[in-house]
Amino acid sequence: MAAPIRLISRLTLVTGGGSGIGRAVSQRLASEGASVVIADISEDSANETVGRLQSDLKGQSHMAAAVDVSSKESVTKLLTRIQTRYFQPPSVCVNSAGVTQDDFLLSMEEEKFDRVIQVNLKGSFLVTQAVAQALVACGASKGSIITLGSIVGKVGNLGQVNYAASKAGVEGLTRTAAKELSRFGIRCNCVLPGFITTPMTDEVPEKVLVKMKSLVPLGRMGEPAEVADVCAFLASDDSRYITGASIEVTGGLFMG
Ligand code: NAP
Repeated sequence: MAAPIRLISRLTLVTGGGSGIGRAVSQRLASEGASVVIADISEDSANETVGRLQSDLKGQSHMAAAVDVSSKESVTKLLTRIQTRYFQPPSVCVNSAGVTQDDFLLSMEEEKFDRVIQVNLKGSFLVTQAVAQALVACGASKGSIITLGSIVGKVGNLGQVNYAASKAGVEGLTRTAAKELSRFGIRCNCVLPGFITTPMTDEVPEKVLVKMKSLVPLGRMGEPAEVADVCAFLASDDSRYITGASIEVTGGLFMG
């Protein structure tokens, strides 16, 4: 079945778009007709993603940019660059930039805790705030902001006290943003992946992955494209009555 084309003429921003889920989301948004700004800590990987995007649909023009989502200055510069080039802010934003720095609670160093919170939670705040401010300032009538949480934010995970806290945090952030921004036509939602095959999970030891897979009712890890499908739905008007929601993409892991 051909993919739907729901995002013609839409300007979209994907943080962490140089890798894994963010790259798959960028590809999916572009295949639906959107222009995509791929922002990543590594400009090279963002450029590599741009090179893989469909660009033959009406008016498409993609851009790669370096950003550190944990820095307000860097995020402000990014939004200025986007508006200078496109004369508008992105009406779709997918917060996919994220990091892990695992350790057990008893030995977790303060620096590791802080870094993961800074990128995953504060970074999502800074980008969400900057995009929302720009949309409100230009009188846009609609927007969709999607943040990658994690099922781990709901159920916890051994060795991920910092990561789980950051991902629980983005759900609270998103629900509050959804309440505050609904009067401007801006919807805010989270997507909660389970275990998805990306460079992030490449770091997980094989025996842990085998154990995890055995817990997934659908019996396998997910693919980045399967998370991207849900992000594209949330970006599109097909989800126009959905805000403040968290959608699990886990193959049934930890359901209920
Ligand atoms: P990934 O392949 O590591 O992609 C994340 C991207 O974000 C990388 O390109 C990374 O660059 C970039 N990044 C890191 N710090 C950044 C910063 N300060 N500013 C801008 N970009 C930054 O990970 P992924 O698996 O696609 O994960 C994407 C999102 O989904 C993350 O929020 C993650 O927590 C979430 N998630 C993933 C899974 C999973 O199973 N894969 C499960 C649940 C949730 P570097 O590679 O240089 O760090």
